Amino acid sequence: MTMEAFIAYKFFGMLLVFFAVVGSTIVGKQKNVDIETFGYNLGLPESEVKALANIYEEASTPSDVLRLACQTAKLCLGQAQVNLSPLNQTLVDENWSETCFAEPYCIILPTNSSGVSAAIRIFGHLEVKFAIRSGGHSPVPSWSSIGNRGILLDLQKLNSVTLSNDGTFASVGPGARWGEVYETLGAETALVVGTRIPDVGVGGSLLGGGYFYFSDQFGLAADNVKNFEVALANGTIVEANNSSNVDLFWALKGGGPNFGIVTRYDLYTVPIYEIWGQLSVYSTGQAAEILAAFDEWQENGSSDDKGGVALSIALDSVVVALIYSEPQDSPPSAFSAFNSLQPIAIPVPATNMPFVSILEILGSSTPAIPGR
Ligand SMILES: Cc1cc2nc3c(=O)[nH]c(=O)nc-3n(C[C@H](O)[C@H](O)[C@H](O)COP(=O)(O)OP(=O)(O)OC[C@H]3O[C@@H](n4cnc5c(N)ncnc54)[C@H](O)[C@@H]3O)c2cc1C
Repeated sequence: MTMEAFIAYKFFGMLLVFFAVVGSTIVGKQKNVDIETFGYNLGLPESEVKALANIYEEASTPSDVLRLACQTAKLCLGQAQVNLSPLNQTLVDENWSETCFAEPYCIILPTNSSGVSAAIRIFGHLEVKFAIRSGGHSPVPSWSSIGNRGILLDLQKLNSVTLSNDGTFASVGPGARWGEVYETLGAETALVVGTRIPDVGVGGSLLGGGYFYFSDQFGLAADNVKNFEVALANGTIVEANNSSNVDLFWALKGGGPNFGIVTRYDLYTVPIYEIWGQLSVYSTGQAAEILAAFDEWQENGSSDDKGGVALSIALDSVVVALIYSEPQDSPPSAFSAFNSLQPIAIPVPATNMPFVSILEILGSSTPAIPGR
């Protein structure tokens, strides 16, 4: 080896060592983060800011940065709103589908929109990965679940349901379940358009559209939103409605997540309280004739937009619920396609009842336990 080659070889080796050392110290630190200013902006006292800055100084892996983010959230929101390791397993496994069971680094459970704002500012400042969960009914892994590479922002404590004084709209937290919404509003003889199954979360379903028994008459749940309260990516909380942040209002009406974190929905009420309904059970051997009746109803009966049919074909039985949005003295002609069928049982004979009553019956036919 010549002297020149030896020097080049040594220099290259030194460069490799240099990059390895520098590389190991910057893993997990996405950029030059000013923790002190950020901590003061979050309203933390000096001693806590200094402690966080020290942790950041020593952080050398993505996990260290996640730990810092979780600790910052704990200092900001209080211990009760941040579940740290060892995590509460019941909380971890609250997603509806088992495919989404994943243990995050920590779980942040804010109780108000300011807490959501603080959380999103922490995520943004430290550039950590996160997932948002409202009712956890999405069966898609990583939508409302995240493994230990990120933090779960769980909105279940934002679950208040209140009716406006004039009864024209209801304010609903994303963490509420539709069953709770119908029940609370039903006590005041009010109803909003949501989803059919009571256990589904408000937050995700409204952002995806929201199909309801009376969607033919009133549209999707998203069509009935008067106003969204949203925490934007920079933590600012804004209202989006038909006169303020109009583009955001449009995008949130079924455009899915990713435009911000919705912290409150104001939903127009619909003029329905008492309805007509009937629930019948058939054998699986009758499935073909039930599907033919369903087809005929779609062809000829569904133009009456007050009627809805819930059809559930299971391994051991077929359940048909006929629902009409107004009380009736006799079965509505819209459902005549089903007249010739012979049920093996009629758990709910044709009757007029408050909407919440039939919802409870229908909801009980869908087990709320996770594990699918
Ligand atoms: C058994 C069952 C029955 C169903 N029945 C119906 C039905 O009758 N009608 C119907 O329309 N749909 C129905 N769905 C589908 C359901 O509406 C969607 O799965 C919906 O996403 C569930 O909302 P969630 O809050 O429970 O979901 P989550 O899993 O918590 O969230 C879904 C997505 O929305 C995001 N997200 C949640 N909350 C917010 C928020 N506040 N701000 C920003 N992003 C957010 C999450 O990050 C995730 O990406 C049903 C699903 C199941 C499993």
